[in-house]
Amino acid sequence: MSFDPAALRRQFPLLAGDPELHYLDNAATAQLPQAVLDALVAHETHARANVQRGSYPLAEGATEAYERARESVRRFLNAGRADEVVFTSGTTAAINVFAHAFGARLAAGDEIVITRAEHHSNFVPWQLLRERRGAALRVLPLAGDGRIDLARLAEAVTARCRLIAITHASNVTGALTDLAAVVSAARAVGARVLVDGAQAAQHGPLDVQRLGVDAYAFSGHKCFGPNGVGVLWVRRELLESLPPVFAGGGMVGRVSLEETTFADAPARFEAGTPPIAQAVGLAAALEWMLSLPWAEIRAHEERLARRLLAALAGMDDVAILGPRETRERLPIVAFNLRGIHSHDLTQVLGDGGVCLRGGHHCAQPLHAAFGVEASVRASFALYNDDADIDALIAGLAAARRTLR
Ligand code: PMP
Repeated sequence: MSFDPAALRRQFPLLAGDPELHYLDNAATAQLPQAVLDALVAHETHARANVQRGSYPLAEGATEAYERARESVRRFLNAGRADEVVFTSGTTAAINVFAHAFGARLAAGDEIVITRAEHHSNFVPWQLLRERRGAALRVLPLAGDGRIDLARLAEAVTARCRLIAITHASNVTGALTDLAAVVSAARAVGARVLVDGAQAAQHGPLDVQRLGVDAYAFSGHKCFGPNGVGVLWVRRELLESLPPVFAGGGMVGRVSLEETTFADAPARFEAGTPPIAQAVGLAAALEWMLSLPWAEIRAHEERLARRLLAALAGMDDVAILGPRETRERLPIVAFNLRGIHSHDLTQVLGDGGVCLRGGHHCAQPLHAAFGVEASVRASFALYNDDADIDALIAGLAAARRTLR
């Protein structure tokens, strides 16, 4: 299949209906293709029922659709088994569930390594765990180029380290993490690796077996799927050993006045009615992604990022946060325009149809490392094109005139 961004864009009703809309906030959420909208409507119209409970055909069909969705996630992640996939409400929920389950067996003095580049979702749960369990946190700093300083791994990962919780890619700088180096540092001391894949998952199917990590979290809404669904993938041998976090229907074996036994994973981690149509919609999004030519799409996204980085580098009032080159990065570019507040800038750009995010992007420790409070962020997805960059560059010129 050959790749034509304009044809792809036509599959997205929200974008196709408004040629003047330049949606460059894909790191916050991606748009929905027609295939996913159709899958959602079809499920809710013809197959809606609760799962894992009823024994009439409609309920059995809903359960089958929900379990098929698990298999689509397995394929997308190239995981070994579908029963390693836990559905959650998103990356944040996935990381919190893992922090509670994995954290339950930590002792005072055990160490967790995180990094300064983390989204608050992969930062604050570990601070809370530090308070609950007395675990110690070690935070890898950024290197001079704004990437996570993996040269400091050997020093940060001690014999007391139990877990490295690290992002696959920064939602601000776009820098990708060399997970092979992280995994080998963890293995050397018998620690586990949890990866925040919220950003990376939007840019093509993954291979958790090749990555060699133990757990991986991502959100449906950033992968052309619905809100309210996400994934916590955990290697089977580890998942089986973890205690439940939320309690309620669907996660138990037998409940009596005296005691309760728990279901096997993944049901053990899915208390209550799960996001059923959302999981079906996510599966449609991931199957849609699996059908696309990713080598061409990555080249396209990289070309867009290179063009924007070059344009910004030529503006003497622009400061880019993080790497200026496209090697090992996602098409996410954060920057500041001297003397202009990020919110003012995104408002003026927004009035012109250019959608960018301004603020700290839930990454205050990272912004502090760059000596700023906030930035504006342009993030490209597969349907973006040169017209979006033209509009952004024109918008920056207009903002200089209006705001200075
Ligand atoms: N981690 C990263 C790197 C992110 O970019 C985001 C979303 N901004 C999250 C975690 C949280 O994702 P969600 O809000 O979907 O739970």
